[in-house]
Amino acid sequence: MYAQVIVDIAHSSVDRVFDYSCPDDIVVGSRVKVPFGNRLIDGFVIGKSEVCSAPAGKIKPVFSVFDELPALVPECFTLMERISARYRVPKAASLRLFVPSEMRLGKVREAYKNYAVLKDAAIPLTKAAKKQGEALAYFAANGECELSAAAEKFGRGAVEALVKKGALAIEKRRINRIPSGGSFGEVLPKTLTTDQQNAIKSIEESKKCVQLLHGVTGSGKTEIYLSIIADVIKKGKTAVFLVPEISLTPQMLSQLRARFKGEAAILHSGLSAGEKFDEWWRLRSGEAKIAIGARSAVFAPLENIGAIIIDEEHDSSYISESAPRYSTLDIARWRAEYNGCKLILGSATPSMESFLKAEVGEYNLITLPERINKKPLPEIIIADMRKEVKRGNNSPFSLALRGELTAALESGNQSIIFLNRRGYSQTVICRDCGYVAKCVNCDVTLTYHSEDNCLKCHYCGARYKMPEACPECGGRHIRYSGTGTQRVVAELKELFPSARILRMDNDTVSGKDGHFKILSAFAAHKADILVGTQMIAKGHDFPAVTLVGILDADMSLHFSDYRSGERTFQLITQVAGRSGRAGLKGKVVLQTYCPENYILRYAVNYDYYGFYKNETQLRKATCFPPYSLICRVMVTSEKDAPALEALKKVYTGINAIRERNPDKFIFLNRMHSPIKRLQGKFRYQALMRLTDGSLLPEIYDIAAENSSAEVLCYVEENPSNLS
Ligand code: ADP
Ligand code: ZN
Repeated sequence: MYAQVIVDIAHSSVDRVFDYSCPDDIVVGSRVKVPFGNRLIDGFVIGKSEVCSAPAGKIKPVFSVFDELPALVPECFTLMERISARYRVPKAASLRLFVPSEMRLGKVREAYKNYAVLKDAAIPLTKAAKKQGEALAYFAANGECELSAAAEKFGRGAVEALVKKGALAIEKRRINRIPSGGSFGEVLPKTLTTDQQNAIKSIEESKKCVQLLHGVTGSGKTEIYLSIIADVIKKGKTAVFLVPEISLTPQMLSQLRARFKGEAAILHSGLSAGEKFDEWWRLRSGEAKIAIGARSAVFAPLENIGAIIIDEEHDSSYISESAPRYSTLDIARWRAEYNGCKLILGSATPSMESFLKAEVGEYNLITLPERINKKPLPEIIIADMRKEVKRGNNSPFSLALRGELTAALESGNQSIIFLNRRGYSQTVICRDCGYVAKCVNCDVTLTYHSEDNCLKCHYCGARYKMPEACPECGGRHIRYSGTGTQRVVAELKELFPSARILRMDNDTVSGKDGHFKILSAFAAHKADILVGTQMIAKGHDFPAVTLVGILDADMSLHFSDYRSGERTFQLITQVAGRSGRAGLKGKVVLQTYCPENYILRYAVNYDYYGFYKNETQLRKATCFPPYSLICRVMVTSEKDAPALEALKKVYTGINAIRERNPDKFIFLNRMHSPIKRLQGKFRYQALMRLTDGSLLPEIYDIAAENSSAEVLCYVEENPSNLS
């Protein structure tokens, strides 16, 4: 028998199948060790055959086989082909996605514990052996005990003596390391509302693979997901449930664990290697049937998938930031197609791309326009910060927000103060009139670069002088740097000395349980006000919160990204959605320097469709995605000259493609990346805007051809960060 092996070296020169002789019972999908050159390396068996093309004398045998069960399920090979073809990566790089990296690198193993188990309770003991007698009585009642615990209780000597006499035996057992977070308490499924039932019916009856569930915050989407998962499990199938930041949402975890107990396994980057290893194997062995996690859980080792759910489908964390730079939605769709199941995308603010696909009929669109029990969405009050500046109020809080905070504190309710830190201090905004510096070519906000004290457009490379005063009103409050959480907390303490305040940002959250502790404390009403950054925006369900204050709502509006309007709309909707979720009426105070901005207008009225219509028109007119594709080939190297050399070649190659397809290129340029050097690497880029993705394979090829040991070239599609 011959095994067809992909060796675990992600390099194009060895990106093919190698034959090895092997025992007949080798299972396709197994990880193996094989001789390669003059060393042993890991590989994946992707097929086996009675015959082999190479001359018999040249064939070497498989050295050893890892794991009792093959790590890869058959679906992996189909996905491998698609991923490698789409993102132009070697097959080994695609297969790596399916196995936790610590396991692949041999850094983690299964864990065992020793147990003492009762064999014979009737052995005679002398009176003097008092401890042994106690131990024997314990085992007669309980049957077994973990060895270290037994040794602690009765003394190591007594336990050993009982083992010697044949009363106890030691058994080594595999144990599972279980991720913490979320309780396993009892939660009963809710009786679904008519809207929820109709949504599920629409999904079930649809002939389309992809379902877009567009429901306002609090419309009961989560309950729909849980119901679909429960149904899938009942049918003997498995499910994948992706949430952008599962580690940040203890309530979601609690719900899932309470509902599905050990059938749910959790995969995210916050787990220890051992926890991830055990959860992964629980899925692979079939003990667990629901994979819950962030982006990488889309590769969960499940067979017979009955539903794939992606919550907050618009979230940018669903795009991988390292090679292969896959889109989780792509992978999920391929898996859904392979398994003949539905892919359900859910959001209160779907991405432009997804909603467009629903509008043209590619996706089935399901709408939930109301909150559960027709509860009103919280009222959003706009506070014009320009007026506050004029009034001489230099604190981070408008008069309106101060008033609402006082009211919330007096009635014993909770408040959330959200700091919009995205893009903060990179934007030039006039605090007197709201003017924002923009590129004359591209209509995107310029980014401030302190190293050369200038403004740059990340979309065309144009440079501008940093203005001393506002070109519109002559005001001098032009360099705006946002307020930090620390200062906000300090000011709150001064205003409300008796209020209990929690702060959550990257500085206060340490260790993998840090978020949990803060959020749990807030959920238990141990604080009145929670101050935080983006981390507190998502998914939380705190019933006692009646006020949300959004400081600097427009900071992300001016982030130099064509999606900044979309991101701001999403963010405001998300954060506002934290208010008034239970019986109490909610309010939101939104502070801004440009209250007339259309994005804010739509957000305040929860008018997603109006926003979508306006935004798509704008994108169409300016040729931005989804009506075009922004593509960047990055060229990086520790040495400047080879990087520049490679960039020239990349550019020449792409230019040749452009000459053959002039109508597909809207724009092409090569330049220094806005950040010229990062982590010791020089950065250059060829930036282009294409009418569609048809030329991508050729562009990926050019990047691959110009990559070497010294220079790394890679392609980014619609990158969310062009720095
Ligand atoms: P979303 O995911 O759309 O934001 P959730 O599923 O979290 O909404 O639901 C919002 C609130 O309504 C939650 O507190 C949830 O427990 C409650 N809820 C959801 N479905 C029902 C139902 N059928 N009956 C009663 N309460 C429900
Ligand atoms: Zn520009």
